[in-house]
Amino acid sequence: MTLLDPIPAPGCGCDAEHGSLASVPNAVAWALACVRPQTQTECVPLHLAAGRVLATAVRAQTDLPRFACAAMDGYALRFGDAQAAALPVSGTAAAGQPPATLRPGTAMRIFTGAPLPHGADSVVMQEDTRPATGNAIALISAPIRGAHIRLPGEDQRAGDVLIAAGQRLDALSIGSCAGAGAGELQVFCRPKVSVLVTGDELTTAGSPLAEGAIWDVNGPMISAALTAAGCELVDLIRLPDQPDLLRATLFKLARRNDMIVTSGGASVGDRDHMADVLADLGAKSQVAGIAIKPGKPTTVATISGTPVLALPGNPLAAFTLWQILGRAMVARLSGAMPETTTCRHVRVTGPLRHTPGRCEYRPAHIVGYGPDGLECVVCPDTTCSARLSQAQAADGFILFPADCEGLSQGDLAEFLPFQ
Ligand code: AMP
Ligand code: MG
Repeated sequence: MTLLDPIPAPGCGCDAEHGSLASVPNAVAWALACVRPQTQTECVPLHLAAGRVLATAVRAQTDLPRFACAAMDGYALRFGDAQAAALPVSGTAAAGQPPATLRPGTAMRIFTGAPLPHGADSVVMQEDTRPATGNAIALISAPIRGAHIRLPGEDQRAGDVLIAAGQRLDALSIGSCAGAGAGELQVFCRPKVSVLVTGDELTTAGSPLAEGAIWDVNGPMISAALTAAGCELVDLIRLPDQPDLLRATLFKLARRNDMIVTSGGASVGDRDHMADVLADLGAKSQVAGIAIKPGKPTTVATISGTPVLALPGNPLAAFTLWQILGRAMVARLSGAMPETTTCRHVRVTGPLRHTPGRCEYRPAHIVGYGPDGLECVVCPDTTCSARLSQAQAADGFILFPADCEGLSQGDLAEFLPFQ
């Protein structure tokens, strides 16, 4: 590989057939095909726009900087006057004032950001001057013509696109918008998304547990992920494994949400009703199982056009498939431009087993750099889809292609960081 070789999108790394299971790249493509990007927009004040997706590009209203100004505290002068043994200081130019006029044969005290006085063409740093007789200064070294001046338009030209439509706004982009004078931004409305978790054993965290019960991990986890991804969380509903209840609730949710994420009941056990309920509702399944570990029983379907991402109940599997499918679906739903792939190569620090069959996304923790400058990772020898703690200590996943028979210490692996 050279530095310029693109690293392929996260995928199973092989072209093998997986029976009825979708390969990871196909699952991502088919899931995205279910999602219609948001078209409704609203105007928000700049300081409230963090995390929103820009609907209309922001352009520079003027040249930036708008006028020539000092880049340093010092003295403004004419380069042609710099030979004089001393230059009287004829005034002060400060930031926020209109440009002054420099008298020939004099220097003007100037502060950073002050408009360059008419007649001046150079700025000398304060540190390169010393006091001379009266209120004059002497130059310690010969100045450079045009030095320490910010020129109009050297950062941006009026009309330049500063932030493109589809970009998710962060502190940096909001700073750029402010610098260009944009006080309000046209952004896409937040997509409305609800979470439905199913499981007879589930109890809300914070409540006492009956015998055999467990606390619901996925409800809060997926809700938090959706909120962080810029969605409006409409409902978080926890239901027992009862098909009638699930069917009625999904039907209602589909009418008032742009997307639904479910967890649990996704597999083939007698208490796993998600697939049947979706079928009863006439849902069109785009993905019915993925050749991946963990997360095989993941389904993506649409109910009357509303996409449903049905995640498995095991928390690490739910988190993994949220990272691979959910984030991409929500980004598209939000009107955001597709995320660029951020896979990179790392070295594994010990031997790792993998059973050929399905590709595997295994949580991995970056521990440092090897002698060749590549990052080194540690990760568990096997993945347990129920153990969220494996991801808690990790920075991302390493990918085992389906046909991989394991990795040896020092082998290269593809690494997909968590977002
Ligand atoms: P399921 O997908 O319903 O077959 O669940 C698989 C495993 O994940 C079972 O051990 C469940 O108890 C567990 N599980 C299901 N949903 C959740 C949840 N929301 N939070 C924590 N564990 C869950
Ligand atoms: Mg269950």
